[in-house]
Amino acid sequence: MSSPGVLIVQNPIIPHLETELWKYYTLFRLWNVPSEKRTEFLLSHAQEIQAIVTNPVIGVSDEIIDALPQLEIISLCGVGLDKMNLTKCKEKRIRVTNTPDALTDDVADLAIALAIAVLRKICISDSFVRHGHYQNNRFLELSHRFSGKSVGIVGLGRIGKAVAKRAEAFGCHVSYFARSEKEDVGYKFYSSVVDLAAHSQVLVVACALTEETRHIVNRQVINALGPQGVLVNVGRGGHVDEAELVEALRDGRLGGAGLDVFEREPHPSDELLSMDNVVLQPHIGCCTRETLNDMAELVLANLEAHFLGNPLHSPVI
Ligand code: NAP
Repeated sequence: MSSPGVLIVQNPIIPHLETELWKYYTLFRLWNVPSEKRTEFLLSHAQEIQAIVTNPVIGVSDEIIDALPQLEIISLCGVGLDKMNLTKCKEKRIRVTNTPDALTDDVADLAIALAIAVLRKICISDSFVRHGHYQNNRFLELSHRFSGKSVGIVGLGRIGKAVAKRAEAFGCHVSYFARSEKEDVGYKFYSSVVDLAAHSQVLVVACALTEETRHIVNRQVINALGPQGVLVNVGRGGHVDEAELVEALRDGRLGGAGLDVFEREPHPSDELLSMDNVVLQPHIGCCTRETLNDMAELVLANLEAHFLGNPLHSPVI
């Protein structure tokens, strides 16, 4: 009997994951196929492909799902379901898994790193030394303290809670916005993002991207955060109205921003690239070797469980 067919949607996938997948499955690499030949490729392997491995930033299109009648499971290497049509998957009885928890610490670490990098001008200071200004006794504008700041978190899920825990260790005052107040935390809850921003010096976005949370950080929120405020986004680019953000940073209505994600990836707004009150990352919140390996293990474990008929380790549906 031939091994189940697994379609890999995007490149690059974690090398270790691909090596392991080859041992147990027949792999089909969609990313290797020129876009004009993809429909034909899917059609010719439609009866063989039973699983898809992809990341949440790419997800899986409706066209791919519709082209694969034998599809049983989609295993996301990451979290965030904004590129997945879960309704369609449910209708077609396709299981979906992701890799929560495995990446939480890395993304929370990066959120804190971005806040500190912006406030302490880490990148500017680095450049100052590299350009010989330190050696020439030139003056570097003073930075701001992170410890003790009030940190507002939009979305107190796994990552949000991990950011809160870290911020607490820095003596920060933590408050949050979510759809409902949490019973299990002692942080102050705000039922409006504008109110949260008005009471925060650092605002960290860590919620899921949905139609409700698209542009949850808008002009009003940015103005409430204010000229001394710092925005950190480790959620999704769509959470922030990037045009408003650029305008506010340019006009001095917002103090600074640390961004791991952008509205049109991989293309941050050009103006951000020349601003020295922002620190930019190429959407690498969870991209450490350790976490990518853990995520790969969970993808493999979910596929194995599915094909053995065992309960899934981290089911979404
Ligand atoms: P999670 O545990 O599922 O938490 C998501 C949180 O979003 C929930 O706690 C939920 O809070 C909140 N939320 C949903 N709808 C909301 C709304 N309308 N208003 C306010 N909050 C809302 O997921 P996670 O693991 O913490 O991940 C959070 C997000 O981080 C992911 O969805 C993904 O987009 C992003 N992410 C980014 C990276 C990166 O590389 N930068 C990596 C991983 C994940 P309530 O239910 O209490 O409202």
